[in-house]
Amino acid sequence: MRPSLTIAFCVTALVAAMGSSLLAEGETSAEPPWDLFEPCASATYPDQATSLYVLPYPVGVTHNVRQGNCNPFNSHNQRFKEDFAYDFEMPIGSTIVAARAGEVWLTRDHFRDDQNRLEQGNFVVILHDDGSYAMYGHLTEGGALVEKGEAVVAGQPIARSGNSGLSKGPHLHFSVKVCPEGESLRSRECESVPVTFRNTRPHPKGLIGSPASKIGGGQRYEALPFEETPPEQEGS
Ligand SMILES: [Zn+2]
Repeated sequence: MRPSLTIAFCVTALVAAMGSSLLAEGETSAEPPWDLFEPCASATYPDQATSLYVLPYPVGVTHNVRQGNCNPFNSHNQRFKEDFAYDFEMPIGSTIVAARAGEVWLTRDHFRDDQNRLEQGNFVVILHDDGSYAMYGHLTEGGALVEKGEAVVAGQPIARSGNSGLSKGPHLHFSVKVCPEGESLRSRECESVPVTFRNTRPHPKGLIGSPASKIGGGQRYEALPFEETPPEQEGS
C-alpha cells in the first residue's frame, strides 16, 4: 500500500474535500480487507427508509459509484476527514440535485475543467437545519445553478458536474460533514458522517464503490421517485 502522489497533495477540510482525487486505473491492484478498516467497520449507517437524503442526481438517472466509503488507498479516509464521501462517475455537465433541503452556504464555479490542480476545484456547499453541510465537488466551469443564501429543497437542480480540481476523471464528490460547535467548515475538526439515500436500492453499509477506484468498477444506483419529506424516524 502506498498513498499516491496526488493524495499526498491533498490538504485539509473543505479544500481536501473539493480536491479529492480518483485513483488512476491500475494504480493499485490490492484488494484490501475492507471490514478491517476503521471507521467503516464500526460505522452505523442511518436507516435507509427514513434517510434525510436522496441521491444527488435526478429521478430516473443511474450512476456508478467509483469510490465509496473508507478507502485507505485513496482520498476517502480519515486522513482527509472524508471517510464517508462518495464519488459518482458522470459525464461533465450532468445535472446534480440537492440531496437534502437546506441553504446554499458557499459556491465556486469559475475554474476550468481538466486542470487537475487541488486549488482549482469548483463546488456548491449546502447548510442543513441541523448544522451539517453537504458538499458537491468537482463541478464544471459555470456549473453552480444556485447562489449563496438561497433555500433549496431535496431533488432541486443545484449544479452541473465536471472535472475541476484534483480529479482524474469527470465525477461528483459528495459528502456530508459535521463540525464541532463553533467551528467552521474549513476546520480540520469537521468529520464526514455515514449517509444513506432513501430513493435507491438497499445499501445498509453505504453505497458500494470499486475497491481500487477503477473506472466503472463500483455498483450502479438508480435514483427512484421519492416523497419530498422523509418519513418520520422512529421515536422522533
Ligand atoms: Zn471523492
